[in-house]
Parts: sequence; structure tokens; C-alpha cells
Amino acid sequence: MAKYVVKFGGSSLADAEQFRKVKSIIESDGKRRYVIPSAPGKRFGADTKVTDMLYDCYDAVTNGGTPEKEFKAIAERFDGIINDLRLDLSLENEYAVILENFKNKAGRDYAASRGEYLNGIILANFLGFAFVDAAKAIFFRNSESGGEFDADLTNAALTALLEKERYAVIPGFYGALPDGTIKTFSRGGSDVTGSIVARAIKANLYENWTDVSGFLAADPRIVDEPKVIRVITYRELRELSYMGATVLHEDSIFPVRAAKIPINIRNTNEPSAPGTMIVHDAPEDGDTPVITGIAGRKNFSVISMEKDGMNNEVGFLRRILTLFESQGINFEHIPSGIDTLSVVLSTAVIEKHPNIIELINQVARPNHIEVEHGISMIAIVGRGMKERRGTAARIFSALSHARINIRVIDQGSSELNVIVGIKESDFEKAIKSLYDVFMLSES
Ligand code: ASP
Repeated sequence: MAKYVVKFGGSSLADAEQFRKVKSIIESDGKRRYVIPSAPGKRFGADTKVTDMLYDCYDAVTNGGTPEKEFKAIAERFDGIINDLRLDLSLENEYAVILENFKNKAGRDYAASRGEYLNGIILANFLGFAFVDAAKAIFFRNSESGGEFDADLTNAALTALLEKERYAVIPGFYGALPDGTIKTFSRGGSDVTGSIVARAIKANLYENWTDVSGFLAADPRIVDEPKVIRVITYRELRELSYMGATVLHEDSIFPVRAAKIPINIRNTNEPSAPGTMIVHDAPEDGDTPVITGIAGRKNFSVISMEKDGMNNEVGFLRRILTLFESQGINFEHIPSGIDTLSVVLSTAVIEKHPNIIELINQVARPNHIEVEHGISMIAIVGRGMKERRGTAARIFSALSHARINIRVIDQGSSELNVIVGIKESDFEKAIKSLYDVFMLSES
């Protein structure tokens, strides 16, 4: 029988009412067998996430204080959920152990992970599922950065452990180092846990339940009520996420992508909405929109250089690239002309290397070099543009009608995206006009 991994974010488990929605979603489909909870999130705008309360608790101890006061508020949140759900469950013993560990200065990651841990125990009790502590199956190896996820060890351990459990709750966000010390992923890491579990149990689907009805085709702070993307490929998602569109933790893509498991982004507060399907390959049919989504980022700079005869000078680009490598400089794009070359990089990178122009002058001796700041890059992404005529023409005419000058143009060789660089002051206008041309005209 098919099996799904279902991950619920913090807002989906913020209080007892949300827990009831989660239970009804899980019980409405018997394939939803492995559940990954986040810690309780915000119940209202000014509320504090339990994870943040735990970090505060940890800070209180490291600053020489005691954790009791902060921890009391955390225990009250969990007890409130237990009481509202009328569960026959007490976490008093768990609280005592955690407080003791806090006083003994257990690490910051240990502190943060207790939100998922306690929420997992409550959810398992409420659903009647087994509770599987992530510290027993998600492993990190020691590394200079303080711990690196160990995919192979984890996969073997999780597969063996979950083979024995038909229905289980595995808390998100953390695992353990070889000596048992708790280690977390970066913030939002429960998404990553869901993906790792999906790979381990060879899930047919990874459902990621959150508080939006899918991945939006543009930033809702710029475009009014943008459409929800129904189907997106992993490659498109990567392009859009890189350019600032966020819905999932970046690292959650890799385990499921390799195993070709689709992800379905769903809304706990609107379970009837189909959400967004993230797939390995989408069938090419006439319904594929030309553009899947538009995203962009500000704060880029362009270094433009000109050199007579650059075209014939063997090694010009190599000298620039070797320089960047030796300085640890990461760049974004390198559009070039016959005697010209531009390098687009984030302004923060240039600020970290104030002597970069001098160094380029030394190694490449261009006739002219200048830097322009205040550039934003916009990616127009869509698997549907491949071998379809006119996409670039529509992009350029949309921007020209909006009286926007294009400073940089780049198209990936896979014909999956067109990237344009424009002045930051034109950013919002450009996104709106591109959205209007591609998304509104195709509805
Ligand atoms: N609770 C953690 C956080 O707030 C992890 C997660 O929610 O995915 O970042």
C-alpha cells in the first residue's frame, strides 16, 4: 500500500484547535502514516514561537541566570494543548529532565530541539501513533562546522527503525552527533527531516502542510493575490528559491529529489485546496504555462570591463576567475561581449573585498573598468519556455512598456529561465509588469 510522509509546520500545531485539524487530515487518508511535527508556532501575530522561547531560555542560562521562569511559560503552552485535547498524558517528568539538562548547560541545539521533541510526544499520544525520537535515527558526523548531516548512516537507521512501525511520529529539526549530543538543522529544518524520512521509507509522496495554499507564482508583497503554482519541477523550484521565493527549507529538496519522490505543499487551514505539486519531471502537455513563476533579489553590483582585443586574448577570463577563486569570491553571472565582460555579484561580496578592482586591474589590465551598485536581478522561470518562440520578446516588451531599462540579460542553457538585471528602483514595477504579461494574459 502506498505510504505518505506528512510534515506539519509550527502554525499547523500552534494550539489544540490546530491539532484537531491535523488529526482529521491524517485520519482522512490511511496512507498518511509517518508524521513529522514542528514545535508549536505563533497563534497570533504578536505571539512567540516555542523554538524562540527555548532559545531565550538557553540564553538566560548562558548569561548566568536560571531557566525556570522562561521554561514555565513553555511548559504552560504544552500543558494548555494537552488539557484542551483532554489527553491522558503528563510531561512533568520530561520537563524535570529538560530543566536539569538546561542547568547543566546542555547545548543551544539541545534547548531548541525540545520544542519538536515535546510536541512529537503529544501528537503521537493524540493520534495513537508510536513516538520515534529523532536522536535515535537522524545522525550527524563530527566536522569543523560542528556537525554535518550523515545521509547514509541516517538512511540505514531510519529504514530499519520505521520498518517496525506502521504509524509513527518522528519530531522534526534535530538528530544526534556520534556521542549522542543533540544537533539541529538550521531554522525551519523540520522540512529537512520530512524529506529524509520520505527517502528512508521510500514514500510515494511527501506532504508538507503549512499555512499557505501552495507556492505562489510571485511575491504577494509585490503582486496582489498571485496565483498558486499547481505543478513545479525541482529544477524550477531551485531557480525560484535561489532568487528569493521561499516555501521550503532549501536542504529539504535534495533527499527527495534524488529518490524522485514528489512533494505536495498543502494548507492545514484549507485542506480541500490541492496546493502545489513539486515533481521531478512534469509531463509536457499543451497546458504547461510558459512561465511557472517570477522571483527576484536586490543588492547586486555589476563590474563591467572593456579591453581592446579581449576577444583574441587567450586567458583573460581565466585570470579573472583564478583571482576570484583565490580570493574566495562567489559570483552570479558573467555575460560577455566581444571586447567587454561583466561580472554580476552580490554587493555584500564586493564590500567584503574592497580592493577587488585594483586586483582585477593587476591581473587582467582592462582599458576601462567600472562598478555599478543598486542592481536587482529577476528570474523569469518556466519549463514551458523551452522551444517556444517569443518568450524573450514578451519579457523585453513588458519591461520596455513599463519604461524599464535592462542592464543585464542572461539565459541558462537549459532554456528554463531568463534572468534580467535592472535598477533596484524599478524592481517592483518590473515584477508586476512581467506578472501581468505572463500570468494574467494566460488565465
Ligand atoms: N521549530 C524550528 C524553527 O522554528 C524548526 C521548524 O519549525 O522547522 O525553526
